[in-house]
Amino acid sequence: MLQQSSYREGKTELVVPPSSLTSKVPPRDPAFFNPLGVLKRDVMVALVAGYSRGIASEISFGDPLAGVGAGAIRVCKEAPAKRVYINDLNPDAIELARASARLNGIYRKCSFSKFEATDFLSRRSGPRKRFDWVELDPFGTPAPFLESAIRACKIGGVISATATDGAVLCGVYPKVCFRKYGGYSLNTEYCHEIAVRILYGGLAFAAMRLDLGIGPAFVHTTKHYSRAYVIVTSRAVPTFSKIGYISHCFSCNSRHTSDEIETRCKECEKKARFAGPLWIGELFDKKIAHDSIDNAPSQASKELLEAAIAEAGAPPTYYVIDKLCDLVGMAPPSLSRITGELRRRGHVAVRTILNPKAVRTDADMKTMKEVVRNLG
Ligand SMILES: [Zn+2]
Repeated sequence: MLQQSSYREGKTELVVPPSSLTSKVPPRDPAFFNPLGVLKRDVMVALVAGYSRGIASEISFGDPLAGVGAGAIRVCKEAPAKRVYINDLNPDAIELARASARLNGIYRKCSFSKFEATDFLSRRSGPRKRFDWVELDPFGTPAPFLESAIRACKIGGVISATATDGAVLCGVYPKVCFRKYGGYSLNTEYCHEIAVRILYGGLAFAAMRLDLGIGPAFVHTTKHYSRAYVIVTSRAVPTFSKIGYISHCFSCNSRHTSDEIETRCKECEKKARFAGPLWIGELFDKKIAHDSIDNAPSQASKELLEAAIAEAGAPPTYYVIDKLCDLVGMAPPSLSRITGELRRRGHVAVRTILNPKAVRTDADMKTMKEVVRNLG
């Protein structure tokens, strides 16, 4: 008999392996559950509720790599979803997911299976079988599952994907990144933004191969993972128009977003390096974030959604204040003084949920240096 512990998260009682609550690193055996993933699941519950409100219907939710079903069970109970499909190769994980479903009184709304993930998704890729929402939460990269996920998702549906291969996405292994996602990463101060833009790019390439497209819905990152939420669209050409490059000059810290590779810095004319091809369009869908706030299960998830609404529509890339001040040789002024001064000069300047110590702005490097000097 599998050992079981009950663990409350949001409004849901989850049944998990006792070792996942006591070990420093949650073990994969008998089944994986990470209590530290709570913010990721809180945000997803809020966004499923917000998306459902937007389409005025409860959704079908497919989770091919469900583990003990923590995300899917919570979505079913708290969002709520019409039906959740909980799949994992590990029979122990599915036994625990069944126990959670019974404990929460939602067993009748859940389907359970033990297929390989892409096999599970391909069984749902035919007309009228597709999900409203496909969740990808693998160990490491979601790259091998992106195309199957697009095939198994309705037009207008949502794909959410976690990537834990941070070193690949943040520019430590740019060639591996190109192989997996179709774009080179680059280790800049805004590498978390490059990570989510590469993830959006990977989803966009998978969709465009099928003559489909994506629209951005939401992204966030922590030390351990990057998360992207996209809407599947029927329009490949507008998606292609949002694919491009970010060039970065490591001599003067200038950066530039373009639909072509730029190898010379526009500011100092030294050699620039590039990230991409990647997504250069919007990062957030303001309406979905707005519709989701009332259903945020925690203060942290609510604050993230509110911050994303404030950040939506702002230009690509951000400056990390400490790094900027190091370059200028000044003590860092507060973030609010910097954003205030930039706005006074007519620039867009907002905080970013991708780095709490940074400012997202359309100001160039020369202006940033001036602003910091004037405030010093
Ligand atoms: Zn330069």
